[in-house]
Amino acid sequence: MAIPFNKPYITGREVHYIYDAVSSGHISGNGKYTKFCHEYFERKYGFKKTLLTTSCTAALEMSALLLKIKPGDEVIIPSFTFVSTALAFYREGARIIFADSKSDQPCIDEDKIEELITPKTKAIIVVHYAGVACDMDKIMGIATRNGLFVVEDAAQAIDSYYTGRDGIRKPLGSIGNLATFSFHETKNIQCGEGGLLAINDPRLIERSEIIWEKGTNRAQFFRGEVDKYGWVDTGSSFLPSEISAAFLWAQIEEIAKIQGKRLNTWNWYHENVDDLFESYSFSKPYTPGYATNNGHMFYLNFFCANERTRFIQELKDKNVYPVFHYQSLHKSKFYKKLHDGRPLKNADKYSDCLVRLPLYYELEPYQIVEALGEKSL
Ligand SMILES: *Cc1c(COP(=O)(O)O)cnc(C)c1O
Repeated sequence: MAIPFNKPYITGREVHYIYDAVSSGHISGNGKYTKFCHEYFERKYGFKKTLLTTSCTAALEMSALLLKIKPGDEVIIPSFTFVSTALAFYREGARIIFADSKSDQPCIDEDKIEELITPKTKAIIVVHYAGVACDMDKIMGIATRNGLFVVEDAAQAIDSYYTGRDGIRKPLGSIGNLATFSFHETKNIQCGEGGLLAINDPRLIERSEIIWEKGTNRAQFFRGEVDKYGWVDTGSSFLPSEISAAFLWAQIEEIAKIQGKRLNTWNWYHENVDDLFESYSFSKPYTPGYATNNGHMFYLNFFCANERTRFIQELKDKNVYPVFHYQSLHKSKFYKKLHDGRPLKNADKYSDCLVRLPLYYELEPYQIVEALGEKSL
């Protein structure tokens, strides 16, 4: 039996809630299931306000509009991330100043951010890679000293936490001015395509509802705060239909079970990969003391690209499908001509040498053991 890299988990309740949404007659956005999801995220994780979106990419685009990014602004973003993290800000005319990752972990190197700040810098976008927190005390300190906004790209980081120097444990996505999550089918909880914008900065809340609903003050109208609604600002149609929200609600109901199962598999990998792959040399993921692990991703760092290629091929031959990850954005076909030429050596190292192992709800460790056969690699 082949072991794919990912297999989306279906709880079984999705079609039940979709049926309910359809038979209620309200299938456009911002209905009952959207409100269930918003209330859940606000209550459980303490986000000041949340808005479901059609993707994390859309939530990042909303962030760029909310921060009033305009041509000439600079935005600091790690190079080792998904295209959308940078694209959303590029589209509003920002110059992307790519930052390097840390040597022991793919998150942005907090100690190398300050040297990239200029009078044009508007925001720092951090990515909690594999659901493991960036050092948010340092990042928020830099932002405060320099008057910058912080957006957490928490696409992979649902239900993960950061413990600050004050000993207080905060959910990822509750710390920056804004945070974005993904419910793409490759993420821990999913609805095929979907996302969430968390707005923690009270100054940005009122405009966020307007941008979400095509630049109109429809939300204020339905609350009875204005007597008619119309076009008041920029925006787009960022909200998903109730079909997606109903699907997501079924996943939210099972989040504890999903996280528990994924974490078990993650822990099993962590304990067993040295024996399973003893002829290879690699390092395992590092989780700093301030961070938790949400079982989103288990990866290995090889010491050279050839070893990684040999590893992927050897596993493929056994019907197990590991995959590598991002290619540094500062070297991408699209942006390399616009990059300022600084080498970002850790980002390149993860591009060339990191590999992700299959990890999904239904995966059982014995299936990996069986697929690899008697002989360890
Ligand atoms: C998955 C992911 C995205 C994009 O999410 P979509 O919901 O597919 O738009 C953005 N950033 C990171 C870090 C991701 O992992």
